[in-house]
Amino acid sequence: MNDCLFCRIIKGEIPSVKVFENDDVLAFKDINPQAPFHAVVIPKQHITGAAAITAENSAAVAKVFEAIAEIAAAENLSDGFRVVTNCGEAAGQTVPHLHFHLWARRDLGWPPG
Ligand code: 5GP
Ligand code: ZN
Repeated sequence: MNDCLFCRIIKGEIPSVKVFENDDVLAFKDINPQAPFHAVVIPKQHITGAAAITAENSAAVAKVFEAIAEIAAAENLSDGFRVVTNCGEAAGQTVPHLHFHLWARRDLGWPPG
């Protein structure tokens, strides 16, 4: 996907502050952080969002959550963290490449807005 912002970040065409990377997953600091720790965790496979997850591509999602557990350990987020995905415009999705917000290091209210 040449015109996908997050695919371009994966390719290094747009710079990012990387938090984690392996063959399947990239995590980088959000440009507009909503918590003292705010990473965006993405599969390298282009999937448009949570509504496009299927039996054929869901392994990419498992890889993302394996990465999240590794990041939480490496960043010492043992106090707790939140993982959020926005799906669709009404939910606030602005980039059509599946991504998970990883928030930590502040009290996170519930229910969220
Ligand atoms: P969404 O609104 O789709 O759930 O999340 C997209 C996130 O990507 C937003 O939190 C936004 O701040 C972040 N973002 C958008 N463009 C860039 C960028 O060029 N670099 C980085 N690091 N984050 C970005
Ligand atoms: Zn993409």
